[in-house]
Amino acid sequence: MERTQYTNEDLDDYHGHTHVTSDFPDGIYHYHITNEDPYLNGNGFFGTAGTITR
Ligand SMILES: [Zn+2]
Repeated sequence: MERTQYTNEDLDDYHGHTHVTSDFPDGIYHYHITNEDPYLNGNGFFGTAGTITR
């Protein structure tokens, strides 16, 4: 069972990490919201952003 509360020390620069979840037993990279700055991935997203064509 995944912990419900994380701190910045638990997460990487993108405010995420990789571990097993109930939906992904092999582990998956995902983000967490914390109760301290930057709350939710303040430094961008993991990987390369896609492009948008308008
Ligand atoms: Zn997690």
